[in-house]
Amino acid sequence: MDIQQNLIDIKNEIPEGIRLVAVSKYHPAEVLLEAYNAGQRIFGENKAQEMKAKHEVLPEDIKWHFIGHLQSNKIKYIISYVSMIEAVDTLKLLSEINQYAIKAGRIIPCLLEIHLAKEETKFGFSFQECRDMLKEGEWKKLTNVSISGVMGMASNIDDQNQILNEFSSLKDFFNELKKDFFAESPDFKEISMGMSNDYKLAIQAGSTLVRIGTKIFGERIYK
Ligand SMILES: *Cc1c(COP(=O)(O)O)cnc(C)c1O
Repeated sequence: MDIQQNLIDIKNEIPEGIRLVAVSKYHPAEVLLEAYNAGQRIFGENKAQEMKAKHEVLPEDIKWHFIGHLQSNKIKYIISYVSMIEAVDTLKLLSEINQYAIKAGRIIPCLLEIHLAKEETKFGFSFQECRDMLKEGEWKKLTNVSISGVMGMASNIDDQNQILNEFSSLKDFFNELKKDFFAESPDFKEISMGMSNDYKLAIQAGSTLVRIGTKIFGERIYK
């Protein structure tokens, strides 16, 4: 795998203003360092202890995005350095992150994960659950989390139209939330969508952050 070349190829396809999260889960720290040395600064991990171990040995100026399902008992492994938690899918989790963030003296940017895909197993709010949660208003009391946008994954299918429709529905939902709840919040600006197989469609639909692993680092070896 020529990581440097892969990063160049991807950057050439991503318009100005869209940021690349290099999804490095399951790859060892040396591999991340190679991407770092090629200029990559944002890395995405989905296991708290794995992120912690890599954070400890890699350069300080890396921006770590937590992109997986976060259990509350694992927040402690990432709270002091994580730069964004992308997959918040309950008010309870948001509130627990807030408590740890207060203790850590930090404000943590968080994205609300929205369930777009047809697959049953994926996490995330439905559109309606998310609206209801925001309407209820409890989140406004959470001083140390900053709701910075939405995140979603399209169905794992071949139908390009369907994938584009799912991404477009997330973009529309972002606009709705921006208008109804975050009109005064400049921080609410991110739409994290697009992975190795579908990032071009995501960009077409208005992504601001793409999360790409395999196309940079090659296939993951699951142990
Ligand atoms: C693993 C993962 C990715 C990257 O997937 P690739 O197909 O390897 O690009 C993106 N987002 C999330 C949430 C992931 O878990």
